[in-house]
Amino acid sequence: MSDPLNLKQFIRTVENFPIDGIQFRDITSLIETPEAFVKTCAELTKVTKAFGATMIASIESRGFIFAGSIANDLSLPFVLARKPGKLPNETYKKSFELEYGNTSIEIQKNTKISENERVVIVDDLVATGGTAIACCELFTENFNVKNSNICVLGVIDLPDLGGSSLIESQGYAIHTLVSYKD
Ligand code: AMP
Repeated sequence: MSDPLNLKQFIRTVENFPIDGIQFRDITSLIETPEAFVKTCAELTKVTKAFGATMIASIESRGFIFAGSIANDLSLPFVLARKPGKLPNETYKKSFELEYGNTSIEIQKNTKISENERVVIVDDLVATGGTAIACCELFTENFNVKNSNICVLGVIDLPDLGGSSLIESQGYAIHTLVSYKD
């Protein structure tokens, strides 16, 4: 099922944004609808609890909207993976490819992360998977967290771009609520 919670009706599609040829899946319409936002956050919390998470991490910036709610529901530590130069303490950095060029995300070195942590990494959408995998690798490479102890949790999956399969093939768990097949 690609939309078991009937959330698609609340997600606006914007053609040719931010560049020609992209169908932008806009979650602002979902979060502006309280019943849809509440239902989405409740489901994300349920999945996170079922995974046995000990920690939430999230990717700047739309992931933060959902991750804060889950961390609050389950009283879990909430780790920010931010764009370069935003975090005030020393950071670990991971570079990854975007559609055009490169970028990187960072987490702080002084964050308390044990190698037995079970981490749920939250973002609004999984496309090629590059962003989510970079975030996973910040945990596996710097804190020795096992791939199987990390779950990527997204509101939306674009499976034709291959990200969710790639994430799974690397031994991470993945869960998304809405899937758009072309
Ligand atoms: P990727 O690294 O390719 O999986 O891209 C995922 C990131 O890019 C997420 O943080 C999304 O917010 C954003 N993104 C990529 N494609 C889209 C799209 N079609 N609509 C909305 N956001 C997108």
